[in-house]
Amino acid sequence: MSLNYRIGFAGFQHETNTFAPFSTQFKDFESPGNMVPFTVGDSIKKECSGQNIPISGFMEAGSEFDLIPLSYASAEPGGLVSQDAFDRISDSILNGIENAGKLDGLYFDLHGAMVTEMYDDGEEELMKRVRDLVGPDLPIVTSLDLHGNISPGFINLVNATTIYRTYPHVDMAETGKRAAILLKTVLTTTKPIFKVFKQANFIPPVTSQSTMREPGRTLYNKLEALDTNVISVDMAFGFAPADIPNCGISLFVCGTDKNEAEKTAQFMLDEIHSSESLFDDHLIDGDQAILKAHELSKSANKPIIIADPQDNPGAGASGDSTGLISKLLKHKIPALVGMFWDPDAAEACHNAGVDQKITLDIGGRFPKENGPSLKITGIVKNLSDGRFTCKGPYSFGVNANLGKMAAIHVNLGLESELIIVLGSNRAQNADQAIFKHIGYDPKDHSIIVVKSAIHFLADYEPISHAVLFAEAPGQNPVKVDKISYTKLRLGVRLGPNGKEFKPVQT
Ligand SMILES: [Zn+2]
Repeated sequence: MSLNYRIGFAGFQHETNTFAPFSTQFKDFESPGNMVPFTVGDSIKKECSGQNIPISGFMEAGSEFDLIPLSYASAEPGGLVSQDAFDRISDSILNGIENAGKLDGLYFDLHGAMVTEMYDDGEEELMKRVRDLVGPDLPIVTSLDLHGNISPGFINLVNATTIYRTYPHVDMAETGKRAAILLKTVLTTTKPIFKVFKQANFIPPVTSQSTMREPGRTLYNKLEALDTNVISVDMAFGFAPADIPNCGISLFVCGTDKNEAEKTAQFMLDEIHSSESLFDDHLIDGDQAILKAHELSKSANKPIIIADPQDNPGAGASGDSTGLISKLLKHKIPALVGMFWDPDAAEACHNAGVDQKITLDIGGRFPKENGPSLKITGIVKNLSDGRFTCKGPYSFGVNANLGKMAAIHVNLGLESELIIVLGSNRAQNADQAIFKHIGYDPKDHSIIVVKSAIHFLADYEPISHAVLFAEAPGQNPVKVDKISYTKLRLGVRLGPNGKEFKPVQT
Protein backbone atom coordinates (compact mmCIF):
# COMPACT_ATOMS: atom_id res chain seq x y z
CA MET A 1 0.00 0.00 0.00
CA SER A 2 1.26 3.46 -0.67
CA LEU A 3 0.08 6.84 0.49
CA ASN A 4 -0.28 9.41 -2.23
CA TYR A 5 1.71 12.02 -0.38
CA ARG A 6 4.86 13.57 -1.78
CA ILE A 7 7.11 14.32 1.19
CA GLY A 8 10.35 16.27 1.05
CA PHE A 9 12.82 15.37 3.80
CA ALA A 10 16.11 16.79 5.02
CA GLY A 11 18.50 16.73 7.96
CA PHE A 12 20.57 19.53 9.52
CA GLN A 13 22.06 18.59 12.85
CA HIS A 14 24.34 20.60 15.09
CA GLU A 15 24.62 20.86 18.86
CA THR A 16 26.32 24.18 19.54
CA ASN A 17 28.41 24.89 22.62
CA THR A 18 28.54 28.70 22.63
CA PHE A 19 31.47 28.58 25.07
CA ALA A 20 33.73 26.51 22.79
CA PRO A 21 36.70 28.59 21.58
CA PHE A 22 36.39 27.48 17.93
CA SER A 23 33.61 27.87 15.39
CA THR A 24 31.97 25.16 13.26
CA GLN A 25 32.74 25.64 9.58
CA PHE A 26 31.24 24.20 6.39
CA LYS A 27 34.22 21.82 6.12
CA ASP A 28 33.20 20.30 9.47
CA PHE A 29 29.90 19.25 7.86
CA GLU A 30 31.76 17.98 4.77
CA SER A 31 34.02 15.66 6.78
CA PRO A 32 32.63 14.95 10.25
CA GLY A 33 34.46 12.30 12.30
CA ASN A 34 31.71 9.82 12.96
CA MET A 35 28.66 11.15 11.14
CA VAL A 36 27.37 11.11 7.58
CA PRO A 37 29.14 13.80 5.48
CA PHE A 38 27.09 16.57 3.79
CA THR A 39 24.95 14.87 1.17
CA VAL A 40 22.44 16.22 -1.38
CA GLY A 41 19.63 14.46 -3.25
CA ASP A 42 19.23 10.77 -3.95
CA SER A 43 22.49 9.71 -2.29
CA ILE A 44 20.84 10.48 1.08
CA LYS A 45 18.82 7.29 0.71
CA LYS A 46 22.00 5.20 0.53
CA GLU A 47 24.29 7.20 2.85
CA CYS A 48 21.79 7.58 5.70
CA SER A 49 20.15 4.14 5.74
CA GLY A 50 20.61 1.35 8.28
CA GLN A 51 21.98 3.58 11.03
CA ASN A 52 20.81 4.76 14.41
CA ILE A 53 19.98 8.26 13.14
CA PRO A 54 16.50 9.81 12.84
CA ILE A 55 16.48 10.23 9.07
CA SER A 56 17.21 6.51 8.71
CA GLY A 57 14.19 5.57 10.83
CA PHE A 58 12.07 8.14 9.02
CA MET A 59 12.87 6.64 5.60
CA GLU A 60 12.03 3.17 6.90
CA ALA A 61 8.70 4.04 8.54
CA GLY A 62 7.80 6.57 5.84
CA SER A 63 8.46 4.22 2.91
CA GLU A 64 4.79 4.31 1.94
CA PHE A 65 5.16 8.04 1.18
CA ASP A 66 6.67 9.22 -2.07
CA LEU A 67 9.91 10.42 -0.45
CA ILE A 68 11.90 13.26 -2.01
CA PRO A 69 15.40 13.56 -0.46
CA LEU A 70 16.66 17.16 -0.14
CA SER A 71 19.92 17.58 1.85
CA TYR A 72 21.57 16.07 4.91
CA ALA A 73 24.25 17.74 7.05
CA SER A 74 25.65 16.89 10.44
CA ALA A 75 28.84 17.83 12.28
CA GLU A 76 30.51 17.00 15.57
CA PRO A 77 29.24 19.37 18.29
CA GLY A 78 31.39 22.48 18.58
CA GLY A 79 31.33 26.26 18.71
CA LEU A 80 28.99 28.64 16.86
CA VAL A 81 28.04 27.50 13.37
CA SER A 82 29.60 29.92 10.91
CA GLN A 83 27.02 31.98 9.05
CA ASP A 84 28.54 30.77 5.79
CA ALA A 85 27.97 27.11 6.73
CA PHE A 86 24.43 27.78 7.95
CA ASP A 87 23.48 29.76 4.83
CA ARG A 88 25.01 27.24 2.42
CA ILE A 89 23.27 24.25 4.01
CA SER A 90 19.97 26.13 4.41
CA ASP A 91 20.15 27.26 0.76
CA SER A 92 20.77 23.68 -0.31
CA ILE A 93 17.62 22.56 1.54
CA LEU A 94 15.57 25.46 0.11
CA ASN A 95 16.81 24.77 -3.43
CA GLY A 96 15.80 21.14 -2.99
CA ILE A 97 12.30 22.19 -1.96
CA GLU A 98 12.04 24.61 -4.90
CA ASN A 99 13.05 21.90 -7.36
CA ALA A 100 10.94 19.14 -5.81
CA GLY A 101 7.67 20.04 -7.49
CA LYS A 102 4.42 19.97 -5.55
CA LEU A 103 4.91 18.65 -2.03
CA ASP A 104 2.30 17.54 0.53
CA GLY A 105 4.56 17.80 3.55
CA LEU A 106 8.08 18.13 4.91
CA TYR A 107 10.15 16.27 7.50
CA PHE A 108 13.33 17.65 9.09
CA ASP A 109 15.83 15.70 11.18
CA LEU A 110 17.10 18.53 13.43
CA HIS A 111 18.90 18.84 16.74
CA GLY A 112 17.26 21.79 18.49
CA ALA A 113 20.42 23.31 20.00
CA MET A 114 22.02 24.90 16.93
CA VAL A 115 23.33 28.44 17.40
CA THR A 116 24.89 30.34 14.52
CA GLU A 117 27.06 33.44 14.43
CA MET A 118 23.90 35.49 13.75
CA TYR A 119 21.03 33.48 15.26
CA ASP A 120 20.49 32.21 18.80
CA ASP A 121 18.14 29.56 17.40
CA GLY A 122 19.43 28.05 14.18
CA GLU A 123 16.45 25.73 13.82
CA GLU A 124 13.95 28.58 14.18
CA GLU A 125 15.78 30.57 11.50
CA LEU A 126 15.81 27.55 9.18
CA MET A 127 12.07 27.01 9.70
CA LYS A 128 11.43 30.75 9.05
CA ARG A 129 13.22 30.48 5.71
CA VAL A 130 11.30 27.30 4.85
CA ARG A 131 7.96 28.91 5.78
CA ASP A 132 8.85 31.97 3.68
CA LEU A 133 9.22 29.60 0.74
CA VAL A 134 6.35 27.13 1.26
CA GLY A 135 3.81 29.32 3.07
CA PRO A 136 2.01 28.78 6.36
CA ASP A 137 -0.10 25.73 5.42
CA LEU A 138 2.27 22.99 4.28
CA PRO A 139 2.57 20.41 7.09
CA ILE A 140 6.03 20.35 8.67
CA VAL A 141 7.07 17.71 11.20
CA THR A 142 10.51 17.53 12.78
CA SER A 143 12.42 15.29 15.13
CA LEU A 144 14.76 16.76 17.72
CA ASP A 145 17.52 15.70 20.12
CA LEU A 146 16.83 15.28 23.84
CA HIS A 147 19.39 18.11 24.25
CA GLY A 148 17.44 20.57 22.14
CA ASN A 149 17.11 24.08 23.63
CA ILE A 150 13.73 24.53 22.03
CA SER A 151 12.16 27.96 21.53
CA PRO A 152 8.48 28.97 21.36
CA GLY A 153 9.28 30.63 18.01
CA PHE A 154 10.40 27.32 16.54
CA ILE A 155 7.30 25.52 17.82
CA ASN A 156 5.10 28.18 16.21
CA LEU A 157 6.60 27.43 12.81
CA VAL A 158 6.20 23.62 12.76
CA ASN A 159 3.05 21.51 12.94
CA ALA A 160 4.51 18.96 15.32
CA THR A 161 7.78 17.57 16.60
CA THR A 162 8.99 14.48 18.41
CA ILE A 163 12.11 14.11 20.53
CA TYR A 164 14.53 11.31 21.51
CA ARG A 165 13.46 9.62 24.73
CA THR A 166 16.76 8.04 25.69
CA TYR A 167 20.17 9.32 26.79
CA PRO A 168 22.41 7.64 25.63
CA HIS A 169 20.38 8.22 22.47
CA VAL A 170 19.82 4.60 21.48
CA ASP A 171 16.42 5.57 20.00
CA MET A 172 17.43 8.08 17.32
CA ALA A 173 16.19 5.88 14.47
CA GLU A 174 13.11 5.03 16.53
CA THR A 175 12.39 8.77 16.90
CA GLY A 176 12.59 9.19 13.12
CA LYS A 177 10.05 6.38 12.79
CA ARG A 178 7.78 8.17 15.27
CA ALA A 179 8.16 11.35 13.21
CA ALA A 180 6.92 9.51 10.10
CA ILE A 181 3.84 8.32 11.99
CA LEU A 182 3.32 11.81 13.40
CA LEU A 183 3.49 13.31 9.90
CA LYS A 184 0.93 10.78 8.68
CA THR A 185 -1.34 11.81 11.57
CA VAL A 186 -0.91 15.50 10.76
CA LEU A 187 -1.71 14.81 7.08
CA THR A 188 -4.78 12.68 7.72
CA THR A 189 -6.42 14.11 10.86
CA THR A 190 -9.43 16.19 9.95
CA LYS A 191 -9.82 17.90 13.33
CA PRO A 192 -7.58 20.84 14.28
CA ILE A 193 -4.38 19.86 16.16
CA PHE A 194 -3.52 22.00 19.20
CA LYS A 195 0.07 22.54 20.31
CA VAL A 196 1.24 23.18 23.87
CA PHE A 197 4.80 24.21 24.69
CA LYS A 198 6.20 24.70 28.19
CA GLN A 199 9.62 25.36 29.69
CA ALA A 200 10.88 24.29 33.13
CA ASN A 201 12.51 26.88 35.34
CA PHE A 202 15.94 25.29 35.88
CA ILE A 203 18.81 24.06 33.71
CA PRO A 204 19.99 20.51 34.57
CA PRO A 205 23.67 19.49 34.33
CA VAL A 206 24.49 17.11 31.47
CA THR A 207 25.68 14.25 33.69
CA SER A 208 22.33 14.26 35.55
CA GLN A 209 20.34 13.55 32.39
CA SER A 210 20.84 9.85 31.66
CA THR A 211 17.62 7.95 31.14
CA MET A 212 19.42 4.84 32.44
CA ARG A 213 19.46 6.55 35.85
CA GLU A 214 17.11 8.60 37.99
CA PRO A 215 15.32 10.90 37.61
CA GLY A 216 15.40 10.51 33.80
CA ARG A 217 14.31 6.88 33.84
CA THR A 218 11.11 7.56 35.81
CA LEU A 219 10.31 10.82 34.01
CA TYR A 220 10.50 9.23 30.57
CA ASN A 221 8.51 6.19 31.72
CA LYS A 222 5.77 8.56 32.87
CA LEU A 223 5.95 10.50 29.61
CA GLU A 224 5.55 7.36 27.49
CA ALA A 225 2.50 6.35 29.52
CA LEU A 226 0.84 9.66 28.57
CA ASP A 227 1.14 9.01 24.83
CA THR A 228 -2.32 7.42 24.74
CA ASN A 229 -4.06 10.63 25.91
CA VAL A 230 -2.79 12.89 23.12
CA ILE A 231 -1.24 12.62 19.66
CA SER A 232 2.25 13.22 20.96
CA VAL A 233 4.04 14.23 24.16
CA ASP A 234 7.75 14.92 24.22
CA MET A 235 10.39 16.40 26.48
CA ALA A 236 13.91 17.77 25.99
CA PHE A 237 16.37 18.16 28.86
CA GLY A 238 18.25 20.87 26.96
CA PHE A 239 21.94 21.58 26.50
CA ALA A 240 23.51 23.64 29.28
CA PRO A 241 26.62 25.11 27.59
CA ALA A 242 24.56 27.45 25.40
CA ASP A 243 24.23 31.11 26.33
CA ILE A 244 20.83 31.72 24.73
CA PRO A 245 17.42 32.68 26.14
CA ASN A 246 15.82 29.27 25.56
CA CYS A 247 18.50 27.13 27.18
CA GLY A 248 16.98 24.37 29.33
CA ILE A 249 14.19 21.84 29.72
CA SER A 250 11.08 22.05 27.54
CA LEU A 251 7.93 20.08 26.75
CA PHE A 252 5.88 19.73 23.59
CA VAL A 253 2.42 18.19 23.49
CA CYS A 254 -0.06 18.08 20.64
CA GLY A 255 -3.57 16.65 20.36
CA THR A 256 -7.04 17.25 19.05
CA ASP A 257 -8.39 17.94 22.54
CA LYS A 258 -6.99 21.27 23.67
CA ASN A 259 -7.71 20.73 27.37
CA GLU A 260 -6.19 17.25 27.38
CA ALA A 261 -3.03 18.55 25.68
CA GLU A 262 -2.73 21.38 28.21
CA LYS A 263 -3.38 19.02 31.14
CA THR A 264 -0.79 16.51 29.88
CA ALA A 265 1.88 19.19 29.47
CA GLN A 266 1.18 20.64 32.91
CA PHE A 267 1.35 17.16 34.50
CA MET A 268 4.79 16.51 33.01
CA LEU A 269 6.04 19.98 33.96
CA ASP A 270 4.97 19.38 37.56
CA GLU A 271 6.72 15.99 37.51
CA ILE A 272 9.94 17.62 36.30
CA HIS A 273 9.82 20.31 38.97
CA SER A 274 9.08 17.83 41.74
CA SER A 275 12.11 15.73 40.61
CA GLU A 276 14.43 18.74 40.55
CA SER A 277 16.62 17.78 43.52
CA LEU A 278 17.35 14.36 41.93
CA PHE A 279 19.24 15.95 38.99
CA ASP A 280 22.65 15.23 40.56
CA ASP A 281 25.79 15.90 38.46
CA HIS A 282 27.67 12.87 39.98
CA LEU A 283 30.94 14.75 39.41
CA ILE A 284 33.94 13.92 41.62
CA ASP A 285 37.35 15.55 41.74
CA GLY A 286 39.74 14.20 39.06
CA ASP A 287 42.44 12.98 41.51
CA GLN A 288 39.84 11.30 43.70
CA ALA A 289 38.23 9.62 40.68
CA ILE A 290 41.56 8.13 39.60
CA LEU A 291 42.51 6.94 43.09
CA LYS A 292 39.04 5.49 43.64
CA ALA A 293 39.16 3.68 40.28
CA HIS A 294 42.56 2.23 41.19
CA GLU A 295 41.25 1.03 44.55
CA LEU A 296 38.12 -0.51 42.99
CA SER A 297 40.14 -2.17 40.25
CA LYS A 298 42.12 -4.23 42.77
CA SER A 299 39.12 -6.44 43.50
CA ALA A 300 37.09 -5.99 40.30
CA ASN A 301 37.11 -8.47 37.44
CA LYS A 302 35.70 -5.96 34.99
CA PRO A 303 36.96 -2.49 33.96
CA ILE A 304 36.36 0.68 35.93
CA ILE A 305 35.27 3.40 33.50
CA ILE A 306 36.21 7.00 34.20
CA ALA A 307 34.29 9.54 32.12
CA ASP A 308 35.87 12.91 31.32
CA PRO A 309 32.59 14.77 30.67
CA GLN A 310 33.98 18.30 30.64
CA ASP A 311 36.27 17.45 27.71
CA ASN A 312 33.58 15.60 25.77
CA PRO A 313 33.83 16.45 22.05
CA GLY A 314 30.23 15.20 21.80
CA ALA A 315 29.21 18.34 23.67
CA GLY A 316 31.48 20.70 21.78
CA ALA A 317 34.65 20.43 23.88
CA SER A 318 37.91 19.96 22.01
CA GLY A 319 38.87 16.51 23.33
CA ASP A 320 42.48 17.51 23.96
CA SER A 321 42.47 18.39 27.64
CA THR A 322 45.42 16.72 29.36
CA GLY A 323 43.80 17.05 32.81
CA LEU A 324 43.19 13.37 33.55
CA ILE A 325 46.27 12.08 31.69
CA SER A 326 48.55 14.27 33.80
CA LYS A 327 46.89 12.92 36.97
CA LEU A 328 47.26 9.30 35.81
CA LEU A 329 50.98 9.98 35.21
CA LYS A 330 51.33 11.70 38.59
CA HIS A 331 49.76 8.77 40.45
CA LYS A 332 51.43 6.19 38.11
CA ILE A 333 48.12 4.44 37.53
CA PRO A 334 47.82 2.29 34.39
CA ALA A 335 44.84 2.93 32.13
CA LEU A 336 43.59 2.87 28.56
CA VAL A 337 42.72 6.47 27.55
CA GLY A 338 40.96 7.74 24.46
CA MET A 339 40.30 9.27 22.18
CA PHE A 340 42.67 12.19 22.62
CA TRP A 341 42.33 14.69 19.76
CA ASP A 342 45.76 15.70 18.46
CA PRO A 343 46.30 15.42 14.70
CA ASP A 344 49.95 16.59 14.96
CA ALA A 345 50.80 13.97 17.57
CA ALA A 346 49.02 11.24 15.57
CA GLU A 347 50.95 12.29 12.45
CA ALA A 348 54.24 12.21 14.36
CA CYS A 349 53.49 8.65 15.53
CA HIS A 350 52.73 7.58 11.94
CA ASN A 351 56.00 9.14 10.81
CA ALA A 352 57.94 7.40 13.59
CA GLY A 353 56.39 3.98 12.97
CA VAL A 354 55.40 1.00 15.11
CA ASP A 355 57.68 0.03 18.02
CA GLN A 356 59.55 3.34 17.84
CA LYS A 357 60.21 5.45 20.91
CA ILE A 358 58.84 8.95 20.64
CA THR A 359 58.63 12.12 22.76
CA LEU A 360 55.63 14.32 22.08
CA ASP A 361 53.90 17.43 23.35
CA ILE A 362 50.20 16.56 23.37
CA GLY A 363 47.31 19.00 23.79
CA GLY A 364 47.84 22.68 24.56
CA ARG A 365 45.75 24.02 21.68
CA PHE A 366 43.44 25.82 24.12
CA PRO A 367 45.65 26.63 27.12
CA LYS A 368 43.12 29.01 28.68
CA GLU A 369 40.44 26.30 28.96
CA ASN A 370 42.44 23.05 28.94
CA GLY A 371 45.83 23.96 30.37
CA PRO A 372 49.28 23.72 28.76
CA SER A 373 50.49 20.88 26.56
CA LEU A 374 51.94 17.80 28.21
CA LYS A 375 55.26 16.18 27.29
CA ILE A 376 55.08 12.40 27.09
CA THR A 377 57.62 9.75 26.06
CA GLY A 378 56.46 6.32 24.98
CA ILE A 379 56.51 3.59 22.36
CA VAL A 380 54.22 3.73 19.32
CA LYS A 381 52.48 0.36 19.41
CA ASN A 382 49.56 0.57 16.97
CA LEU A 383 48.52 2.76 14.04
CA SER A 384 45.29 3.07 12.02
CA ASP A 385 43.62 5.22 9.40
CA GLY A 386 40.69 5.82 11.77
CA ARG A 387 38.15 4.14 9.50
CA PHE A 388 35.87 1.59 11.10
CA THR A 389 32.20 0.82 11.63
CA CYS A 390 30.61 1.42 15.02
CA LYS A 391 28.82 -1.56 16.55
CA GLY A 392 27.52 -0.24 19.89
CA PRO A 393 23.86 0.63 20.51
CA TYR A 394 24.38 4.41 20.31
CA SER A 395 26.49 4.79 17.14
CA PHE A 396 25.30 1.58 15.50
CA GLY A 397 26.10 1.39 11.80
CA VAL A 398 28.03 4.67 11.63
CA ASN A 399 31.14 4.59 9.45
CA ALA A 400 33.70 6.53 11.46
CA ASN A 401 36.48 8.54 9.84
CA LEU A 402 38.71 9.73 12.66
CA GLY A 403 41.76 10.29 10.45
CA LYS A 404 45.22 9.09 11.43
CA MET A 405 45.14 7.35 14.79
CA ALA A 406 47.92 6.01 16.97
CA ALA A 407 48.34 4.24 20.30
CA ILE A 408 51.30 5.20 22.42
CA HIS A 409 52.41 3.22 25.49
CA VAL A 410 53.95 5.25 28.33
CA ASN A 411 55.98 3.18 30.80
CA LEU A 412 54.92 3.86 34.40
CA GLY A 413 57.42 1.42 35.98
CA LEU A 414 56.68 -1.92 37.66
CA GLU A 415 55.58 -3.30 34.27
CA SER A 416 52.58 -1.00 34.11
CA GLU A 417 51.68 1.25 31.22
CA LEU A 418 49.47 4.18 30.37
CA ILE A 419 48.05 3.66 26.86
CA ILE A 420 46.90 6.80 25.06
CA VAL A 421 44.89 6.47 21.84
CA LEU A 422 45.32 9.58 19.67
CA GLY A 423 43.09 10.62 16.77
CA SER A 424 42.88 13.36 14.14
CA ASN A 425 39.14 14.14 13.79
CA ARG A 426 37.31 15.14 16.96
CA ALA A 427 34.91 12.48 18.25
CA GLN A 428 33.56 11.36 21.58
CA ASN A 429 34.28 7.85 22.71
CA ALA A 430 30.85 6.26 22.87
CA ASP A 431 31.73 3.04 21.07
CA GLN A 432 34.23 0.31 21.94
CA ALA A 433 35.19 0.16 18.26
CA ILE A 434 37.40 3.24 18.81
CA PHE A 435 39.70 1.03 20.91
CA LYS A 436 38.99 -2.36 19.34
CA HIS A 437 39.81 -1.38 15.76
CA ILE A 438 43.30 -0.29 16.84
CA GLY A 439 44.05 -3.41 18.83
CA TYR A 440 42.63 -2.97 22.35
CA ASP A 441 39.67 -4.85 23.76
CA PRO A 442 38.38 -2.68 26.64
CA LYS A 443 37.44 -5.83 28.56
CA ASP A 444 41.18 -6.59 28.97
CA HIS A 445 41.92 -3.32 30.80
CA SER A 446 41.29 -2.51 34.44
CA ILE A 447 40.80 1.25 34.07
CA ILE A 448 39.47 3.01 30.97
CA VAL A 449 39.18 6.78 30.53
CA VAL A 450 36.67 7.95 27.92
CA LYS A 451 36.06 11.47 26.66
CA SER A 452 32.28 11.33 26.83
CA ALA A 453 29.61 12.52 29.27
CA ILE A 454 26.79 9.94 29.06
CA HIS A 455 26.67 8.31 25.60
CA PHE A 456 29.53 5.94 26.52
CA LEU A 457 27.19 4.25 29.00
CA ALA A 458 25.34 2.44 26.19
CA ASP A 459 28.37 0.44 25.05
CA TYR A 460 30.70 0.57 28.08
CA GLU A 461 28.52 0.23 31.17
CA PRO A 462 27.50 -3.36 30.34
CA ILE A 463 31.18 -4.44 30.42
CA SER A 464 32.10 -2.38 33.49
CA HIS A 465 32.38 -2.96 37.21
CA ALA A 466 31.77 0.73 38.01
CA VAL A 467 31.47 4.12 36.31
CA LEU A 468 32.91 7.36 37.72
CA PHE A 469 32.43 10.93 36.44
CA ALA A 470 35.65 12.93 36.91
CA GLU A 471 36.02 16.69 37.11
CA ALA A 472 38.89 17.87 34.92
CA PRO A 473 39.48 20.92 32.69
CA GLY A 474 37.40 21.18 29.51
CA GLN A 475 34.99 23.32 27.54
CA ASN A 476 31.81 21.45 28.44
CA PRO A 477 31.18 22.87 31.92
CA VAL A 478 29.03 20.46 33.91
CA LYS A 479 28.33 22.58 36.99
CA VAL A 480 25.66 24.92 35.67
CA ASP A 481 26.06 27.50 38.44
CA LYS A 482 29.67 28.06 37.35
CA ILE A 483 28.76 28.87 33.73
CA SER A 484 29.06 32.58 32.91
CA TYR A 485 25.77 33.10 31.12
CA THR A 486 24.71 36.54 29.91
CA LYS A 487 21.59 35.88 27.79
CA LEU A 488 19.33 33.39 29.59
CA ARG A 489 15.65 34.23 30.08
CA LEU A 490 14.75 35.87 33.36
CA GLY A 491 13.66 33.57 36.18
CA VAL A 492 15.52 30.44 35.01
CA ARG A 493 17.73 28.89 37.69
CA LEU A 494 21.32 27.70 37.26
CA GLY A 495 21.19 23.99 38.07
CA PRO A 496 18.72 22.11 40.25
CA ASN A 497 17.69 24.34 43.16
CA GLY A 498 20.36 26.76 41.92
CA LYS A 499 20.38 30.52 42.04
CA GLU A 500 18.29 32.53 39.63
CA PHE A 501 19.96 33.92 36.52
CA LYS A 502 20.58 37.65 36.76
CA PRO A 503 21.77 39.54 33.71
CA VAL A 504 25.15 41.21 34.15
CA GLN A 505 24.69 44.93 34.89
CA THR A 506 26.68 47.14 32.58
ZN1 LIG B 1 21.94 14.76 22.53
